[in-house]
Amino acid sequence: MAFKILASQCTQCGACEFECPSGAIKFKGEAYVIDPKECTECKEAFDTQQCASVCPVPKTCVPA
Ligand code: SF4
Ligand code: SF4
Repeated sequence: MAFKILASQCTQCGACEFECPSGAIKFKGEAYVIDPKECTECKEAFDTQQCASVCPVPKTCVPA
């Protein structure tokens, strides 16, 4: 499992990129995307998904 960013809601603030402990979030083309192969859902590192926690837009970083 992995998280994904809903591009239609993302403001491209960039906050999530720096909080991801897996380096799974990158700016690609015209949007921030989560590499599902890199995303660990923050398991072992945090109790909550850091991208979802830091994102200012509710329900933008969601389970894929
Ligand atoms: S859930 Fe965690 S590991 Fe996955 S993209 Fe978000 S911050 Fe990174
Ligand atoms: S924190 Fe949320 S709004 Fe900001 S770039 Fe990441 S997904 Fe987009």
